[in-house]
Amino acid sequence: MIIVLFGPPGCGKGTQASIIASNINVPHLSTGDMLREAVKSKTETGLKAASIMEEGNLVSDDIVISIINDRIGKNDCRNGFILDGFPRTLSQAEELDSMLIEEKLKVDLVLEFSVNDEVLISRIEGRFSCGDCGLGYNDYTKLPLKEGICDQCGSSNFIRRKDDNRETVTKRLEAYSKDTLPLLPYYREKQVLYSIDGLADIDVVSNELMTLIKKWDRYRWLECKGEYNRDLRTILFKKWK
Ligand SMILES: [Zn+2]
Repeated sequence: MIIVLFGPPGCGKGTQASIIASNINVPHLSTGDMLREAVKSKTETGLKAASIMEEGNLVSDDIVISIINDRIGKNDCRNGFILDGFPRTLSQAEELDSMLIEEKLKVDLVLEFSVNDEVLISRIEGRFSCGDCGLGYNDYTKLPLKEGICDQCGSSNFIRRKDDNRETVTKRLEAYSKDTLPLLPYYREKQVLYSIDGLADIDVVSNELMTLIKKWDRYRWLECKGEYNRDLRTILFKKWK
């Protein structure tokens, strides 16, 4: 099963990706991690990417695509994978599709984490963490049990990331709307797009996603058995958008 996750930075998709990945036993492929891995392991593409990043430039589509191509050819991706942070533009989505078609594969599910911008901004502004053990907190959703003292290690050294401020977050949200939102109609047309409330509780979101994935599995199974019926998709996915 090939799943693509969409959502602005801070919407919780990384957390959900890890939960789904371990539940259905497929790797969680985040573009950032793959890029760092390729640079570290000094593959041809990795070395190219490293020199571009050293000059302070953004890595081009070609390089990102080639890194992903290498990665999904590995054995652990045989039963599928979850893409997080890719594709980010329409042309990347088309590239991904043609890459998959060569392997007789396709994107099965696209999960969009929709968020209210204002709520997301205040959540991100509220983030802080323990400077000693790294445990994360939030002014709005998760304060330490004892004020000023880390639940995990007892430290009182809390830190906030400089770029967790309104201005930076707004910029990131604007970039997301401009580049990524135009992609949604592309997947909607393919009837693989599913939207969820990214700001709901972590457990609520992961339960909803796992239910969806199970339904999808059953749908595919019936399809394989030749019991495909045109309405099945509509019946199973009342929330298709
Ligand atoms: Zn701590």
